[in-house]
Amino acid sequence: MAKIKFLDEETINQIAAGEVIERPASVVKELVENSIDAGARKILVEVEDGGKSLIKVTDDGCGIDGQDLPLAFKQHATSKISGAHDLAAIRTMGFRGEALSSIASVSRRLAVFTKTREAKVGTYLLIEKAATLELKEAGCPAGTSIAVFDLFYHIPARRKHLRGGEAELAEIADLITELAIINFGISFELFTGRRTIFKSIRSQSWDDALFRVFGLQTSRALLPFRAKGKGWNLEGMAGDLLNTRSSPDRIFIYINGRPVAAKALMSGYREAYRNLIPVGRSPIGVVSLRAEPRLVDVNVHPAKREVRLLQEEEISGALTQAVSSAIRTEARPPEKKLKAMPPEMPLDIGSGEQSTLPLEPSGQIALVSPAASPKARILGQVLNLYIVAEGEQGLMLIDQHAAAERISFERLQERYRTMMISQELAVPVTIELTPSEQILLEAWKETLEEMGFEIAPFGGATYQVRAVPAIGSRLESPQALHDVLKDLFSLGKVGASATAKEEILKLLACRGSIKSGVELDSGGMKRLLKDLFACNNPLTCPHGRPVMVVIDRGQLETLFQRR
Ligand code: ADP
Ligand code: MG
Repeated sequence: MAKIKFLDEETINQIAAGEVIERPASVVKELVENSIDAGARKILVEVEDGGKSLIKVTDDGCGIDGQDLPLAFKQHATSKISGAHDLAAIRTMGFRGEALSSIASVSRRLAVFTKTREAKVGTYLLIEKAATLELKEAGCPAGTSIAVFDLFYHIPARRKHLRGGEAELAEIADLITELAIINFGISFELFTGRRTIFKSIRSQSWDDALFRVFGLQTSRALLPFRAKGKGWNLEGMAGDLLNTRSSPDRIFIYINGRPVAAKALMSGYREAYRNLIPVGRSPIGVVSLRAEPRLVDVNVHPAKREVRLLQEEEISGALTQAVSSAIRTEARPPEKKLKAMPPEMPLDIGSGEQSTLPLEPSGQIALVSPAASPKARILGQVLNLYIVAEGEQGLMLIDQHAAAERISFERLQERYRTMMISQELAVPVTIELTPSEQILLEAWKETLEEMGFEIAPFGGATYQVRAVPAIGSRLESPQALHDVLKDLFSLGKVGASATAKEEILKLLACRGSIKSGVELDSGGMKRLLKDLFACNNPLTCPHGRPVMVVIDRGQLETLFQRR
């Protein structure tokens, strides 16, 4: 019997939706991009429960003709291209004609009001489970409003995979801000039914959007740059050397107005900052490439997140150059700026004298008095990471970072237990948060307070930090605060449970501890060991990795084949 048959339309749609619609933010992306393609000057996005129960996008664009409307929800129905020849020169955000049909197939219900500018009356369409329930004339303003109810209603496995409302909302906020920067000619608003999360006003340049995304201080410090070549030109804003992040998530890259993950441009951009900002840090910035369509292939990824770019070495090289000269020609001398930067690995322990344990030319190791602990005689440090000591059982190797983590973790635990975790900052620090970070801060508010943070809104994107968990002096720069908040947010769920608190303490302990690669002087090593031996559990770090390894006489004898 024949086994192969064609799939029905609903199944096809659901399969396509699997690729395009991953989460509420993907629905928002598709709807907003349609609004942009429709020539909207104003786009309003309303969401409830992080978009899980409702996503509504309203625009004042060209609208959809009443007769076309049901067609718009058919797979591969599009007004944007008419054949393969058009694929080579796409100037719209959409062209695959599968977003609306996909969204309809993975939501419980979808309602559309739309009217073209010429039409006297608009059209209303109600779709449930991909079938048209209602189609009728309706009075509505020119433009289109599409409401999507209960995403993944019929697909519990997908629904279960979604994160909490706040986390999904943060993702939507990131998406809107990303689109608002490059589409500065459009006013955007993201509204949750209770509050406006983000709002930009249509203008001639991206300055307004940048100010709303980055905050006043940060956006003021951005430096413009430009470059061009045959068939392409680059424009952008480079972040200053003081404003760095722990990840490149605030470098916005666009190709022909489309936000993309373009590896070559990303590394070209970051290259300009190499040796100017600390290793492991990332600048912020905006890069917009306009290239002739023949240089760009956007048809390589269902969500169009990735694109292929011809001449990418040439373009990214030019990008590096342009950014380098923008950040170097800045008036302020770089030395002064670098000095103002928080030291990459500040030392709490042993920061007094910076001398290392002197290694005598004779090869003899200078010994430190055994006072560190009754049980250990410190011999030195190797690889700027391990402390070498002689203990009662033999040779001891101690991982300095793991040890420091264990010590701070137990201290923090104790302070948390006795409600002494908060430490007021001598000078409050102001930080600027993006809209999505503001959402997460709000969601984490209680937990943050309980962990000793005191953070209050200070107008616009600015927040003032008055107190932080007592982990030494490591949380006194906006940068360090940003990093620790980001780490916290990425823990995912806002937990109230004891294990969640413990996770946070571990994270803080890690942030507050000396890292590997730091030279320790003898006093520093001594103190570290003394503190370590005072711990309840000196043998493992909070993440469960060993803090020390002992090689006893027997093992040494085996190693040297004495036995
Ligand atoms: P695509 O954007 O790839 O063409 P979609 O499924 O997203 O495919 O949309 C199908 C069609 O519906 C579009 O080509 C467009 O003609 C119409 N459409 C969708 N959204 C809007 C809107 N907000 N305003 C005007 N037309 C729209
Ligand atoms: Mg589309």
